[in-house]
Amino acid sequence: MAQTMSRKPSIAIVGAGMGGLAVAATLRRAGFEPQVYEQTQRFGRIGAGIQMMPNSMKVLRGIGVEDRLRAVAFQPYSHLNRDGYTGELKRELPMPDALYGAPYLCMHRAELHDALASALPPEIIHLGKQLTGLDQKSGQVTLSFADGTKVTADAVIGADGVHSLVRDIVVGPDAPIHRGRIAYRAVFPASLMDRDLGPSRVKWWGRDRHIVIYYTTKAKSEVYFVTSVPESAEWMTKESWSAKGDVKELRAAYSEFHPDVRATLDACPDCHKWAILEREPLPRWSEGRVVLLGDSAHPMTPYMAQGAATSIEDAAILARCVADVNGEDIEGAFRRYEAHRKPRTSLIQAISSANTWMQGGDADTSWLYGYDAWNVSLDAPPRQPASAGVAA
Ligand code: FAD
Repeated sequence: MAQTMSRKPSIAIVGAGMGGLAVAATLRRAGFEPQVYEQTQRFGRIGAGIQMMPNSMKVLRGIGVEDRLRAVAFQPYSHLNRDGYTGELKRELPMPDALYGAPYLCMHRAELHDALASALPPEIIHLGKQLTGLDQKSGQVTLSFADGTKVTADAVIGADGVHSLVRDIVVGPDAPIHRGRIAYRAVFPASLMDRDLGPSRVKWWGRDRHIVIYYTTKAKSEVYFVTSVPESAEWMTKESWSAKGDVKELRAAYSEFHPDVRATLDACPDCHKWAILEREPLPRWSEGRVVLLGDSAHPMTPYMAQGAATSIEDAAILARCVADVNGEDIEGAFRRYEAHRKPRTSLIQAISSANTWMQGGDADTSWLYGYDAWNVSLDAPPRQPASAGVAA
């Protein structure tokens, strides 16, 4: 049994995105007092929707933000997959709360970010702190920031996204993979549409492209779509939430699609463009007292809507591992976290990269959505299906 520490270890989190805020909340729930360092000066309202599946909703329930999200989010009846041209049904998965023990919600990205921030005391989030270096010495880690300041902590969690500096420090620098595809996306008032989008979130599958469309509010007042289309590889090597797309090019890219898709794109006033990036699973997630979480550890394509969800799952498991040793053997806790998490996130990265999830068939979905990060055994890899359709 772990000995009781005279004081709780200090934990610094780099990045206040979905993963960083979530792990701050799960660590606080476990009795720790982390500090969060974020490079941006203020949080903006990025125009994008986000789907939260039951696996991540269970974690969000545990940190007390489920009711807040239910009050504003759209709860789709199902995951609906249709042929992009004819509308023919490929696969439908109804998603009642009872099926996987938590709801499936679609919302504006800012609603999720605000909800996570609301679970934290504002004074623990330090804005305008761009990490520039880490130095591990004598059981402590010193963080250096671009503004010339330094802080010291007993452990560091790198939740600094797909271009993570902490990742570069832990495993060495390399570039994320860009397979020459981009996502167009837009959020706009549903009043601009001439039709109702129905009760579900719909993924429309084309030959070499797809589009996902859903409401982001309970009142169905806002429409969101996100696509994946081929694009010249040199277009962008670093994604940005603010790069604008050309709505005429976007409409042309879907001109052969079903009338419901064309009606959505015709109603959309403007759009953004985002390079889709991913990585192969990393050789390791930690180095001593520094560990990775979320996109810094396992960036994936958005095709399964699991990037933020797995970051939020990571948050619950990491907090459990650290709590189990009462903050004592931090390095061991980080290795246990990685041993449990990596098989699952690597499989999700692979299926997401292949873009086969629910394209058809009836492959098992319970291993993904049924996962309960608060209660799953930490000493065995999580359940995986015999065939998850990576090459389906
Ligand atoms: P991020 O959210 O990227 O946060 C990283 C934070 O670190 C940022 O705030 C950044 O400013 C900060 N930072 C970076 N470097 C430094 C530094 N040096 N010092 C200090 N701070 C730093 N996931 C889902 O679950 N469901 C979806 O429906 C979904 N849809 C998506 C649609 C699109 C088009 C895309 C591109 C992604 C989608 N995702 C979705 C994935 C999801 O957005 C990411 O997986 C998720 O945001 C990862 O969270 P994170 O905290 O690891 O990284």
